[in-house]
Amino acid sequence: MSTTKTDTEVHSFLKSLYKGEFAESLVFPFPEVPEDVKETVTVFADAYRDFDAQFIDSEKIDRDHFFPREAIQGLGDLGALGMTIPEEYGGSGFSAAAYCKMVEVIGPLDSSAAIVIGSHQSIGLKPLLLFGTDEQKRKWLPDLASGKRLAAFCLTEPEAGSDAASLKTTAVYDPATDEYVLNGTKQWISNGGFAKFLTVFARIPSEAAEKDKHREIACFAVVPDESGELPGLTRGPEEKKLGLCGSSTCQIILENCRVPAFNMIGGKGQGFRVAVETLNTGRTSLGAGSVGGCKQMIKLATEHATQRKQFKTRIADFELIREKIAEMTANTYVLESMVYLTAGLIDKGVPDYSLEGACCKVYGTELLWKTINEALQIAGGNGFMNEYPYGRALRDSRVNMIFEGTNEILRLYLALTGMKEAGDVLKGVEKAVYSPLTQYGVLIGHAQKWMQGNVPAFDKKLQKVHPALAPEADQVSHYASIFRNAVETIVFRNGKKVIERQYLHHRIADTLIDLYAQVATLSRVTAAIEKKGEEKAKPEIEIARWFCFQARHRMVASLKALDKNRDAEATAISNAVYEAGGYPFDLWGW
Ligand SMILES: Cc1cc2nc3c(=O)[nH]c(=O)nc-3n(C[C@H](O)[C@H](O)[C@H](O)COP(=O)(O)OP(=O)(O)OC[C@H]3O[C@@H](n4cnc5c(N)ncnc54)[C@H](O)[C@@H]3O)c2cc1C
Repeated sequence: MSTTKTDTEVHSFLKSLYKGEFAESLVFPFPEVPEDVKETVTVFADAYRDFDAQFIDSEKIDRDHFFPREAIQGLGDLGALGMTIPEEYGGSGFSAAAYCKMVEVIGPLDSSAAIVIGSHQSIGLKPLLLFGTDEQKRKWLPDLASGKRLAAFCLTEPEAGSDAASLKTTAVYDPATDEYVLNGTKQWISNGGFAKFLTVFARIPSEAAEKDKHREIACFAVVPDESGELPGLTRGPEEKKLGLCGSSTCQIILENCRVPAFNMIGGKGQGFRVAVETLNTGRTSLGAGSVGGCKQMIKLATEHATQRKQFKTRIADFELIREKIAEMTANTYVLESMVYLTAGLIDKGVPDYSLEGACCKVYGTELLWKTINEALQIAGGNGFMNEYPYGRALRDSRVNMIFEGTNEILRLYLALTGMKEAGDVLKGVEKAVYSPLTQYGVLIGHAQKWMQGNVPAFDKKLQKVHPALAPEADQVSHYASIFRNAVETIVFRNGKKVIERQYLHHRIADTLIDLYAQVATLSRVTAAIEKKGEEKAKPEIEIARWFCFQARHRMVASLKALDKNRDAEATAISNAVYEAGGYPFDLWGW
């Protein structure tokens, strides 16, 4: 165990885990929300529910593919568009935990409203909040908080999706007017049809930045007039989507669109960082929305299962149904723990929670999808009928696994960040590891020497977990240690090629998510036991035991498969398919 840093000096819990450190004081005790914050959010949530009941007709919105414009102003008047904006700029200055709780409430009530609100403040105006100057904030934030202006985040382009750094939109400086001239097309922009504050990412061509394309990118506030017009800015027709039908999604076309140099947010060459950090901070709230959706599905499934009888028995009493309900509920508890642990990290000023946020997004969005599917299954034939909410929930939730970083890209991010951290620790052999000329044998030689000599053993155990959960705490410590060594071994074995080994990245990312999920759950249940005693916390102890048991099986499978797998076969099968242009094994040879 490295003892060079104290927990308070560690900037990220999961990155520290990759380095062989357990920064336990970052995740214990489980963050408690102050009573006054709870009261404020409870009042606000009630007001939001009333507003939703009066002004947001979800079925009509879904049918008409249109979100009523007066409802957008209503959201502004209510304060739902300024939750994350500090009070000094006209917002409510909600903490991350308070914002997550509201997202949890808003999402299941109406997904299109959630997109209007989320695209506005989780991503649209976030660059301004994170990187704007005080002058810029004073100029724009009050109108954004009141809903006079709605924000949109404009990064994606037809040729630049996951590979956002390859964006082609240009910004050319005109010294005569001290303006930038923007040209390019942005694609699938949420709130695009009516946003009046667009954060646009564009490339400032320069010879100096030629070598590093990231450094050419800058972020600009493109601010139309009050009617939404700006010379050179055109909005494409609304996309016809599978779900989120009331939300606006369209292209933003920029043709010689002039923007004052004052509108650059974060400075020259900082645009890629602005985009990445904006998305990093927004991801926890996608996890929060998933918590809300899962709770809604558990309620629907419980109502149906306890009322419906077959074979003269409540279907709720069949073990195959119990299994589904238990799984949906325990996993939702785990997700809730991850989201509010991460929100707590943000609220206490831990500077880097990008991995934790990515875990919440991947785990949460996939759990919501599975949970809706299971609730639909419990509803039987009714689940397939449009008068029930399952179909729309499935359609609306599907995109969560695609936007704000696809779940594949986030898994790569989770794994590769860890490999970089591991690589940094292995400084003595770093050159060997990353040299494309280094041979595997040489690396192993280095690795063995290093392992025998200087390896700081990752022997620290989770100390702060309640004794009632000691076996689970030992399990997490044990697998964290194996995991960390496995990541280092992979870096040694693969050298620079490690960045191409996505089969391995998948397993590493999934294990990291499971480790974080268990730590979050153990932290929360420990707090619950300390607060109400072991007897009253029994159902939560059972959840922790259930989840850690399941997680162990997944971790063992993933870690074993880092060494023994059939990856070569997977490559061969996909090659055969690509060569044939589709399924090549038709039984009749068709
Ligand atoms: C409803 C909706 C709203 C949106 N809102 C916004 C918005 O407000 N602002 C905005 O800027 N964008 C927005 N987007 C765009 C969204 O962020 C992109 O769709 C997303 O980033 C993925 O890009 P892509 O669709 O081009 O897919 P691609 O990048 O082409 O990816 C296709 C598939 O390949 C996988 N893939 C890609 N690269 C790799 C790799 N290196 N390794 C392994 N797998 C890989 C992906 O995971 C995916 O499964 C929105 C999209 C939708 C559908």
